[in-house]
Amino acid sequence: MPQAAPANISEPSSPEYVRMSLAAAMTLDLAPGSFYRNARLGCINLLLTYPGGCRANCAFCGLAREKRAEAFEPRFEKFIRVAWRAWPLAQVIERINQAPPWVERVCISMITHPQAKADTLEICRRVARGASQPVSLLIAPTLLKEGDLEAMKEAGAERIGVAIDAATPELFAGLRGAGVAGPHRWEHYWRIYEQALAVFGQGKVGVHLIHGLGESERELIGVMDRARALGGSTHLFCFFPERFSALGERPQPPANGYRRIQMARWLIDHDLARAADMVFDQEGRVVGFGVSAQVLEEVLASGRPFMTSGCPGASGEVACNRPFGNEKPGPDLRNYPFALDAGDLALVREQISQY
Ligand code: SF4
Repeated sequence: MPQAAPANISEPSSPEYVRMSLAAAMTLDLAPGSFYRNARLGCINLLLTYPGGCRANCAFCGLAREKRAEAFEPRFEKFIRVAWRAWPLAQVIERINQAPPWVERVCISMITHPQAKADTLEICRRVARGASQPVSLLIAPTLLKEGDLEAMKEAGAERIGVAIDAATPELFAGLRGAGVAGPHRWEHYWRIYEQALAVFGQGKVGVHLIHGLGESERELIGVMDRARALGGSTHLFCFFPERFSALGERPQPPANGYRRIQMARWLIDHDLARAADMVFDQEGRVVGFGVSAQVLEEVLASGRPFMTSGCPGASGEVACNRPFGNEKPGPDLRNYPFALDAGDLALVREQISQY
C-alpha cells in the first residue's frame, strides 16, 4: 500500500474520533448556521480519520494522499468544500440521540487505511447500539475480503454503499488505480458490490457514481443499468472540483447532461426502463429515454428524479439528501435536497432539453 503523508501526532484518530460535515454539526446543534432554503439534512455522515489520512490517491478527492501532504489542516480539514471537524464518537452518538426527527439514518464512511476495517466495525457497533437510526456503511472495498461484509452486518450495519465513482474501467484505473499510483481495482469493487448484495440482500446496496469525470452519458447509463441488474441501485453525484485534489481546476460539467443522467437513473432504478431501451446520439447523449411521452412527462412533472439519490430512511424516502454537497447553495442546484418548486421545475425542464 502506498505511503501516507507525514503524520501529525496530535491529530485525533478513529475509533474514538470521527469527522463530521458542518451540515451534520449544525443539524446536531454542535455548530451555528442555517441552511439555504431551509433544507434539512436527513442523514448524519461520519468519516473515519487518522494521522496521515487516506492511503489512496483518487484524482477527484480532497483526501487523496498526495494533495494531503501539501494542504493538510489537522482539525478543520476541508472535504466537499466544507470543514469536516473531528468530534469524539461518544459525543456524536449522544447528539444523534437528540437529533430532530427528520434525521433518519447514520452513515459511516471508511477511508483507505490499515486500521479502517477494524475501526469501522467498532464504530458501527457503538452507533448501532447507541442510536435508533439505521446505519449505512460506505465501504472501502480495497481493504475488504471474503467474510468482512458478514462481520459488518453482525456489527449492525443495515445497508452498504460502494463508491465506484468512475463509469468505465479505463476512467477508474486512470483516476483511482494505476494511473495515479492508487490501490483501487475496478473488478474488485464490482466483486465486493456483488458480495454485499448477497450478504445484505437485494435493494440494500447502492453504488456511488459521479457524472463529469470524462465519461459519456451512454457509459454512465450503462453502468447504472449494471448496478440495477445485479440487484442494487445508484446514488448519483455531479462532479464538483475539490480545491486540494488533482482535478481541482476542472470545471463542474453543465447541468443539462446531469439532468438526463438523473432522469435515466430514476427510470432504471424504478424499473421503468433499461439502458437498452434508450436512444443515444453520436456523442453518446440520451435522445430517447425508452418510455412513452406520457410516462416521461409524469416523471418529469414530479421533479423527483432531480432530488438527491441515496439510502432511504424509515419513511422509505431518501434520508441521505446531502444538502449542497454537490454545489454551492444557490439557484444552480444539481441534487435538490428538497422537493422542487415551480421555479425549479421550469429550470430543469429547460436544462434537460439542452444539448
Ligand atoms: S447514499 Fe449516503 S447513506 Fe448511503 S452509503 Fe452513500 S453516503 Fe452513505
